[in-house]
Amino acid sequence: MRRGTHVQYSPDTIWIDERVKHLPLVERVLSRSSGSRVEYTTDPKQLIQEARSRPDARTAGKHKLLLTRNDGAFFRPCPGTPRYLCCGYQILDAAENCTLECSYCVLQTYLSNPLMVLFANTDDMKRELNRVFRRKPQRRIRLGTGELTDSLALEHLTDFSELIVPLVERYPHVTFEFKTKTDSIENLLARRPSPNLVVSWSLSSEAMIASDEWKTATLARRMSAAQRCAEHGFRIGFHFDPLIVHDGWEQNYQKVVEQLFHAVPAEQIIWISLGALRFPPSLKPIIQERFPRSRILYEEFIVGEDGKLRYFKPLRVELYQKMVEWIRELAPQAFIYLCMESSDVWKKVFGKAPRNNCELGRMLDERC
Ligand code: SF4
Repeated sequence: MRRGTHVQYSPDTIWIDERVKHLPLVERVLSRSSGSRVEYTTDPKQLIQEARSRPDARTAGKHKLLLTRNDGAFFRPCPGTPRYLCCGYQILDAAENCTLECSYCVLQTYLSNPLMVLFANTDDMKRELNRVFRRKPQRRIRLGTGELTDSLALEHLTDFSELIVPLVERYPHVTFEFKTKTDSIENLLARRPSPNLVVSWSLSSEAMIASDEWKTATLARRMSAAQRCAEHGFRIGFHFDPLIVHDGWEQNYQKVVEQLFHAVPAEQIIWISLGALRFPPSLKPIIQERFPRSRILYEEFIVGEDGKLRYFKPLRVELYQKMVEWIRELAPQAFIYLCMESSDVWKKVFGKAPRNNCELGRMLDERC
């Protein structure tokens, strides 16, 4: 696997489900993938079964792109995590799996299909979104594509933003977030900024990006992309998630905070989220096998109330308090929230906590 700067994804094989071969998205992807082998299938389930049975399934699967139909719903609530405060985010499933390689990525256990999947029936997706957005126009909807994939990792093949942005722009009560670790922003820069679009970057220290976020854009490239989007007029979000304890984490994260406010004026930052490393126990052997040089498992973990492994509470509180202090020093009014944390931790960090998920959701809605 290749570390370092973001390399645009080019699958070695593209599998096309016969049911979608006539659709425009398929033509577009094919016209931009001259180096890929193209195969057709009438049985994607069998294909997935075969891919799953390979010993190196998770690594090999990412090099194969399956263009297929989503026969279910595209839009659904973020599952969050039980017993911790979650923000009422909604997910748009336009693709599944990710071309990037973060050691801690939960998709490695969450997805049973190791292939990179892109849903080509975008007209169905648009119909569903129009239906959902019209249903309760008085209710704010925050949604994004960054949960089961990176929002912009396939942009050079799909122009997905050109499909979603004009649709979202018609609904002022909808806020759409592109969440990424790439710098694939050219399509976005070709558009007028719209108040219901947010472009967000997941950030970490340079050291962690080099060791545990393979194939992603370097920190400098992410910052430069965020700066260009801000200068263009977009609202910008940042996610320090996961925050990882590592050698020099205090200096390293403080430096990232400084770089962030150097790149983007505080008033253009809609939100900054913080989330300490957490993962289901089933991910541990996968990290050990696929990323043997990663050091993220060296800290001690406890089993949280949601069954996930987390740092001890005092360490999580310390991580958050320091981050909040460094952020507030440079931007006293910055809106900061914790992702999937307990009320208790919220109170220790901020002196207060949202009463429940609805209140946290409302706080974020007000930012929109
Ligand atoms: S960018 Fe996100 S979805 Fe992609 S591998 Fe990293 S953690 Fe997973």
